[in-house]
Formats: sequence, structure tokens, C-alpha cells
Amino acid sequence: MKAANYAYPRVVKIITTDDGEPTKDRRWHLVVNEAATDRSLCTGDAFGIGDSGAEYKEKIGKVTCAECIKTIKWFKRIKL
Ligand SMILES: [Zn+2]
Repeated sequence: MKAANYAYPRVVKIITTDDGEPTKDRRWHLVVNEAATDRSLCTGDAFGIGDSGAEYKEKIGKVTCAECIKTIKWFKRIKL
């Protein structure tokens, strides 16, 4: 099982689909971890060993996906 907690937000770029087809998506998506599965925030696409055959790049860095940014901004409206 993967660790669910990281000190910094992780971002992912999905290079191929689960079937190995190249994607045209070059955006960096925020990684969320649900029930020990890593997913991109906007699409919920799973990636990582044991969860998907999709090839991907992952790093600590800046989110460039407009859909992920939209959701992040929505969450930032929540008063804690
Ligand atoms: Zn996204």
C-alpha cells in the first residue's frame, strides 16, 4: 500500500492510457489519494503500479491543468 500523506502536493502527467495508447494531455494534474489509489483530481483517472497500466510522470511541482485549478479554487472557498 502506498503512503497517503505527503508533505507537498504531488502533480502527475499521464503519458499513456491504461491500454498503452499515447495521450495528447500534457497538463500537470494534482494527485489525490483515495483509498490507497493515486488519481488525478479532475478526471479521477487512477495511475501507478497495481492500479493502472498507464505510463505517467510524477513530481512535486506546479499544477497546470485548468480543471484541477478550478476544483482547488473551489475548495479554497471553504472556511475552516
Ligand atoms: Zn487536471
